[in-house]
Amino acid sequence: MGARAGQRIRMHGIVQGVGFRPWVWRMAQEAGVAGRVWNDGQGVTIEIFGSPAALQDFRARLASPPAAASIDASTCEDIAPEDVDDFVISHSAVGDVRRVSIPADIATCAECLAEIDDPRARRFRYALTNCTQCGPRFTIARQIPYDRAHTTMAAFEMCPDCRREYEDPADRRFHAQPIACPKCGPRVRLVNHGGDPGDPFVGAAQLLADGKILAVKGVGGYHLCCDATSSAAVRTLRARKRREEKPFAVMVDALAAAEALAELNSDERQLLMSSERPIVLVRRKSSANLAAEIAPDNPFIGLFVAYSPLHHLLLSEARRPLVMTSGNLSEEPIACDDDEARQRLGAIADAFLVHGRPIENPCDDSVVRVVAGAPMVFRRARGYVPRPVRLGMALSRPVLACGAQLKNTFCLAQGSDAFLGPHIGDLDNLATLSAYERAVNRLLSFTGIVPEIVAHDLHPDYASTRFARERSEVIKVAVQHHHAHVAAAMAEHGLNGPVIGVAYDGTGLGPDGTAWGGEILICELARFERVATLRALPLAGGEVAIRQPWRLALALLDDAFAGDPPLHMLPLFQRVAATDVALVRRMIGQRLNAPLAHGAGRYFDALAALGLGVPQARFEGQLAMAWDFAADAGEAGRYPFVIDGEAPLTMDLRPLVREAVRELIAGISPSLISARFHNTLVAATAETVRIVLRRTGPLPIVLTGGCFQNGRLTESLVRELGEIVHLHRQVPPGDGGLCLGQAVVADAMTR
Ligand code: ZN
Ligand code: ZN
Ligand code: FE
Repeated sequence: MGARAGQRIRMHGIVQGVGFRPWVWRMAQEAGVAGRVWNDGQGVTIEIFGSPAALQDFRARLASPPAAASIDASTCEDIAPEDVDDFVISHSAVGDVRRVSIPADIATCAECLAEIDDPRARRFRYALTNCTQCGPRFTIARQIPYDRAHTTMAAFEMCPDCRREYEDPADRRFHAQPIACPKCGPRVRLVNHGGDPGDPFVGAAQLLADGKILAVKGVGGYHLCCDATSSAAVRTLRARKRREEKPFAVMVDALAAAEALAELNSDERQLLMSSERPIVLVRRKSSANLAAEIAPDNPFIGLFVAYSPLHHLLLSEARRPLVMTSGNLSEEPIACDDDEARQRLGAIADAFLVHGRPIENPCDDSVVRVVAGAPMVFRRARGYVPRPVRLGMALSRPVLACGAQLKNTFCLAQGSDAFLGPHIGDLDNLATLSAYERAVNRLLSFTGIVPEIVAHDLHPDYASTRFARERSEVIKVAVQHHHAHVAAAMAEHGLNGPVIGVAYDGTGLGPDGTAWGGEILICELARFERVATLRALPLAGGEVAIRQPWRLALALLDDAFAGDPPLHMLPLFQRVAATDVALVRRMIGQRLNAPLAHGAGRYFDALAALGLGVPQARFEGQLAMAWDFAADAGEAGRYPFVIDGEAPLTMDLRPLVREAVRELIAGISPSLISARFHNTLVAATAETVRIVLRRTGPLPIVLTGGCFQNGRLTESLVRELGEIVHLHRQVPPGDGGLCLGQAVVADAMTR
């Protein structure tokens, strides 16, 4: 043995609540080093002592950490050797440890899965099996620090076997806070209308095979579940849930089952099996054995792989893919409390598959799609929350950013960490609003952040704006919607500006009182300049025009054809009553209840209504999505457009509209017209950006706003503009990412 040496290693990243310290302990045993490991405010610190060769061996082992952990950075320094014999796991230093101490929920690990399938294991078929590598975390946490007494498992006393595992540093369940077994842990029951159902999973599978609807209690809330291969079952679920056309997600038991349903690339496979286990939007195979009613007229399907033992047991009995959609009526928050679930879902579900582990923090499934060669998060919730988004900048003061009205999330930011709360949804009913307030209070207490600044949208009528204004913090900052969108992308990529931000969405209030949403801005964090916008359209009836896109199409046509469009030649207007058309034309002509809107999303809605001949939308963004899906992938043609005016420039698409209408009347297929529309919007945007770049010199470009969930638009624009383009990766491009931008702008504006 050589001379004794000492080293201190610090590791940052996801290293707490994922079994990292016990793993380090095992590595230390194997390498034969003494010392200690503990959690601190930034991550994990390790001190090791032994021969130089042993220390080197130990460090080499650290290079492949457990699956649920991820190391952002590590440092190593030499320290004076100490005369210690053992390697010990020290108690966490207190201090600011709580800032990082509650981990996100983690999908079941391979070892736990093997145990529930093993008839000799004591957790055979036990639905609440977990270990330090997997299981619930955020969703069961009541307060900090994260230990068993502070989770919803506090009421369950460990049996001697579980206690032994919990206390043994060599065990996979050392300090696994939700540890449980069939002897001491919560049970699973099938609550049925009939008599004794026997094994709950066998009973549940039988009901599913009979076309019944189940309410299933999972990790972050209840799902509604049915046989995904049965049209009749899916139709029943739609009718009872009052959700007519919005796509449902489908859960499978393993990657092989996902491969049978969808075309997958390696990024998608990796996402499907990641420990976050989001719903992944993937291209459905034409051969897929799935009911068409799951996602009508949609080439994509939201797929996810079982992420808790309960789901695995249910799927292995059911032996078919299952629809798993949030357990709620349309537009309400996900149900998580048992009594509440029974009340709210009783009229929808034929039976309840439940477990006895209370859910403390509701958390919907996350949604991700691979766009331009990398994952883009569309909905950020279970598996990601409360892990912080690391800002490429440091804030001067702690901020609470209250988010948007639709697809709301909020954020608590301090230093270079931004903690986003889970996706809440649209803040337009009391249930959602109170879920929002509870979630804000919960994250305040988990992070210990005391905000000094409260950021909100410029729109005075957003529920999140009213919430912000009622808070007691002194500094309130209103942030313009599209400035916040651009700043969210800047924050993700550590850009301080100036940048050119292309912000395309449905709507957001501009400082001039009109609805913006087709904006090209030069942004810094504290200010922005609007350099270009899409020509505004009147929204006849305001919000009504968004649900009835034929009104938008009419406004577009009246504008493009100077008041004399060939309506009688267009199939769309054969589906709308002549009296309605006359009324709306009067509203547009006289500007009665017809506010102007620049939103790129409105052009998608209008062109889709026109091209597909569909007057109404059943949910927000439905037609825009259908228009994206309709586009012919190989078509490269485009229509004319005009860029004129100054400060700001106007992107005028009237020539596009006239040409598209001529082609439609001539019988050209909607798929070609849609492709040419997309190509034209890309060309007009790229051309405008180049005009701006000639003025400013080279600047980075960010694409943001809900329209950039459209894969075709995003990928074509990236191709057109090249490598200087930054996309959202960690937070949604839509309003679900807005709070992040609000936080960094509010901080910059008050410096
Ligand atoms: Zn496990
Ligand atoms: Zn036990
Ligand atoms: Fe928006």
